[in-house]
Amino acid sequence: MYIWESHSPQRLRHVKEASCCEAYILCSEGAQYYVLRRTDFARFEETARGTYEHAAAVWLNLAERHKQQAHRAGVRHAKPSPGPIISGAGVDRVPME
Ligand SMILES: [Zn+2]
Repeated sequence: MYIWESHSPQRLRHVKEASCCEAYILCSEGAQYYVLRRTDFARFEETARGTYEHAAAVWLNLAERHKQQAHRAGVRHAKPSPGPIISGAGVDRVPME
């Protein structure tokens, strides 16, 4: 399990990768990387803050798990809706599905 902490961006946030539904988002702030998830419309939590290798491995694991669980449950996957992540500053790549 991962420890999720409430997230408030300290500096410019860059989105590196987003899983399907934007369930988990790999972000960077300067040299630090972390995984972000949305808990509410405007609320975020983060985990795995550290090096790219560390955060990317956690992100991949979570993204895969999300995909498997959603597929097994037959959950219909909605396109990500625009929100703070997309419209926020520092987005350098809009995720493709
Ligand atoms: Zn999904």
